[in-house]
Formats: sequence, C-alpha cells, structure tokens
Amino acid sequence: LRLINLNINEVILDFIDILKHSIPSEITITTNLEEKIWIIKGDKPKLEQVILNLILNAKDAIYSKGQITITTQNISNFKNKSTTKYICLSISDTGKGIKQKDLAHIFEPFFTTKKGGTGLGLSVVYKIIKEHKGYIEVETNKPRGTTFKIYIPAFFEKK
Ligand code: ADP
Ligand code: MG
Repeated sequence: LRLINLNINEVILDFIDILKHSIPSEITITTNLEEKIWIIKGDKPKLEQVILNLILNAKDAIYSKGQITITTQNISNFKNKSTTKYICLSISDTGKGIKQKDLAHIFEPFFTTKKGGTGLGLSVVYKIIKEHKGYIEVETNKPRGTTFKIYIPAFFEKK
C-alpha cells in the first residue's frame, strides 16, 4: 500500500476516459462530485482498481441501456464517529439489483452469479477499502439498481 494525499475527484477525472471506454455507449456515466472534497490518504492505483471493479459490475448488471452515477461527498458525522471526517464515494446503477439471499455473500472470494464470472472483483474491493481503514455499504435503489458506497477517512480540507 503506497499512501499519498489524494483528491478522489481528481482520481476519478483522471480515470474517466478509461472508464468510459470500458462500457458500451448505451450506458452513460454521470459524475456528481463534491466541490471541495476533503483529501484522503490513498493508494491511487488501488483506488482506481476499486472504481473500475465497481463500474464493471454496474455494467454487467445493466441489461442494455442504463446509467451509472459516480458521486463524491464529504461526510462529517459518519456512524456518529463525530471526530473523524470521511469522504463517501458512491457508484450507483440502474441495473437488475442484487437478490436479498445473495447480499450476504457478494464480498466472498469466488462468489459469482455470472456465467464465467470470477467472483473476485468485490473481494478485492473489500480488501483495498479495509487497507484504507474504510467501510462499504450496499443499497438497493428504487425502482431498480444498486448503489455501492465507500467511506474513506479524510484528513484535511484542500485549500
Ligand atoms: P463477478 O463480477 O466476477 O461475478 P464480483 O466479486 O465482482 O464477481 O461480484 C460478485 C457478485 O455480486 C456478482 O456476480 C453479482 O451477483 C453481484 N453484484 C456485484 N455488483 C453488482 C451490481 N452492481 N448489480 C448487481 N449485482 C452485483
Ligand atoms: Mg465483478
């Protein structure tokens, strides 16, 4: 793990062309980035891997046309840990969603519901986020789709 001061918005924007080339043109990627996002200590290539794995899963979940939204936010009262600031990176899709019975297993290595899936993407995401002392939440969207929210400790405000 090679931690440097990172602006997650810059990581996303530096990487957005690669992400757009990884998905079909019927799927649109929208970004919704917090203007003065707090700085994190992060490993840039590993966080790019996290974002790519989540985007590829979102793509797989979308039948044909759909949307993926990448959002960043400053979070100052996450889980009542009032002294610690976090940033939240969320990746939301309009895909088929995750069945209730699968939810408990998606972060396990080799768990997959796909033909030819490796089941490794989310276990890698989980490991990298733990290395950053972060948290992951999964939410089911209404009327359809899934949102993965990643929380990473933030340190100071970029001037
Ligand atoms: P793989 O993509 O090879 O199946 P992952 O570890 O990346 O392995 O994902 C594990 C499983 O979690 C997937 O097979 C799928 O069932 C579910 N999953 C992950 N992300 C999503 C998503 N955005 N929408 C629906 N299901 C998802
Ligand atoms: Mg995957």
